[in-house]
Amino acid sequence: MDFDWSPEESHLRATVRQVVLDHAPPDWTSRSRDVFTPELLAASKRVCRALADAYVWIPHWPAEYGGRDASVWEQLIIGEELWGAGEPRGPQYMNTNWVAPAIIAAGTEAQRDRYLPAIAAGDVLWCQGFSEPDAGSDLASLRTSAVREGDSYVVNGQKIWTSYAHVAQHCFLLVRTDASAKKHDGISILLVPMDLPGIEVREVTSIIGPHAVHEIFFADVRVPVDCLLGEENGGWPLIRKVLAHERVGAARFERASRVLDQAMRSLPDGPVDEVAAGRAFAACEAARALAYAAVQDRGAGRDRSATANATRVGNVAAERAVARVLSDEAGQQALVAGDPADEQLTVSLPVSISSGTLEVQLDLVARLGLDLPRA
Ligand SMILES: Cc1cc2nc3c(=O)[nH]c(=O)nc-3n(C[C@H](O)[C@H](O)[C@H](O)COP(=O)(O)OP(=O)(O)OC[C@H]3O[C@@H](n4cnc5c(N)ncnc54)[C@H](O)[C@@H]3O)c2cc1C
Repeated sequence: MDFDWSPEESHLRATVRQVVLDHAPPDWTSRSRDVFTPELLAASKRVCRALADAYVWIPHWPAEYGGRDASVWEQLIIGEELWGAGEPRGPQYMNTNWVAPAIIAAGTEAQRDRYLPAIAAGDVLWCQGFSEPDAGSDLASLRTSAVREGDSYVVNGQKIWTSYAHVAQHCFLLVRTDASAKKHDGISILLVPMDLPGIEVREVTSIIGPHAVHEIFFADVRVPVDCLLGEENGGWPLIRKVLAHERVGAARFERASRVLDQAMRSLPDGPVDEVAAGRAFAACEAARALAYAAVQDRGAGRDRSATANATRVGNVAAERAVARVLSDEAGQQALVAGDPADEQLTVSLPVSISSGTLEVQLDLVARLGLDLPRA
């Protein structure tokens, strides 16, 4: 068995790395994408357009929509290089990883024509309207309602923890369209323009940084029926697929590994806990191995295997182990905003919550992967 990357894959990696070097702002960090000032937003869009110009933006899309049916491995390489650089795509990583694939899979021809060109050009921001105050891990309990009235769905309710809601032009919104059906059977997906009357976005103040998360309120928002993705009440199977992609999508281990490497190089001579640093490096490599196994599964069409969940667990362990090494070395300096240890601590906090909590991932590994009973 040959474990090496092929010459084409190595060339792809080098191309993506060069685009980042040439176009990403030198002061870009993984926290920039949460804060998102207009300057950072413009810089992020420049990177996305440069990736598109270099044909490394959407190679995994089908050829008929501007991609070249590239392998899941090529998608992984792009993800590794961009996450390793602090994800200068900003929220647009979601567009290519799962928003567009969902539209390609379930959208009408008109919807594909409407939404895909702007995503393919690296020029549009989406947000993910899933979580609600009483529906997080148990997402299918969501209550935001959409009632059909003529040519519109009238949407009422509230979403919470929405990243990028303050800058997004569209929301990939989960709504309840049948309150009488079993909870998984009454959910639909609406592709909602964020400038419709009745939508209000409020920042949720958080330790992660300004504008990292938001609430979105919907008060009698009239969403045209042609914004329905897939079938009415048939949203859940598509969402499950989308979430599986999201779980493998983020190559956090690559960024954590580079942060650790950088920190070890820049530390002044002195007592470094080499065992802890070695363990942190091993955690990053374990997460990488799990991610590769998950990609292999996805390539083989096993979208619902537990390796995607195990990858999330591995990423949490890697981020935390690196945070521990950096903060132990930095001491009190780790509490100073902008210090690499502070940054790593802050990045490692939400990773065990966003995109599905650590406990829920472990539970899924136990049930789907190890065949253990629910209790
Ligand atoms: C930085 C950040 C960004 C986010 N961005 C978005 C976004 O853009 N869009 C969006 O829709 N959401 C977003 N979220 C929300 C995120 O998806 C939810 O916070 C997450 O799904 C958990 O839901 P919850 O907060 O309601 O916690 P709960 O589900 O209420 O969980 C509370 C606690 O109970 C535990 N728990 C719950 N169920 C079980 C179980 N069955 N077994 C064991 N333990 C369990 C959890 O592990 C957790 O510790 C974001 C969150 C964060 C932190």
